[in-house]
Amino acid sequence: MDCNDIRCPIHGSLKTRGNSFEGTVVSDRNQRTVIVIRDYIAPLRKYERQLRKRSSIPAHNPPCISAKRGDTVTVEECRRISKTKAFVVTSIIKKGVEQ
Ligand SMILES: [Zn+2]
Repeated sequence: MDCNDIRCPIHGSLKTRGNSFEGTVVSDRNQRTVIVIRDYIAPLRKYERQLRKRSSIPAHNPPCISAKRGDTVTVEECRRISKTKAFVVTSIIKKGVEQ
């Protein structure tokens, strides 16, 4: 499959650096953008407990990867691509169920 996206980490010139994590795609309605949800555990020092937290991150979705809703993906930090996007999907770990 041809990939002519310059903002592709494999075929384009986009370099990744910084953070990377795994998450689940919850929305693929935008063109070349997915919303990825990340669950993590944060310490609550005052009560010496841990909190389960969740953050949603808009990430660039190159056409050669084209992650769909429900997929588990790896997301890596890159330069800011737009006002809200500073992450890019680099691989699909597990395909979600077709909806
Ligand atoms: Zn590509």
